[in-house]
Amino acid sequence: MTRKKKKKLSAQQMAICHNCSLSISWRENHVVRPEVWAAAGMLPSDGHLHRACLETRLRRKLELADILVMYVGENSEGIKMRVLDLEAYLEFNDAMGY
Ligand SMILES: [Zn+2]
Repeated sequence: MTRKKKKKLSAQQMAICHNCSLSISWRENHVVRPEVWAAAGMLPSDGHLHRACLETRLRRKLELADILVMYVGENSEGIKMRVLDLEAYLEFNDAMGY
């Protein structure tokens, strides 16, 4: 990391895709509904998927209604995420033990 200009956080690697084993950046970070995750044959502990990899597993396009939290941008403080369904997201966090 250089001192003068930090690389954009959103371009940095966040995780490895469970499906294709390639890196996933913060920009691609979404949380989908547990039932959507399960429909893709994923366990809660299975980690992360690219959106395209998730859509391949689901055999359909991801819809806004499938998403609980989505990346919306970043500022100097970090990544900005938007919670689309707070109630469902809190339930998800409880279930995950966060
Ligand atoms: Zn992938």
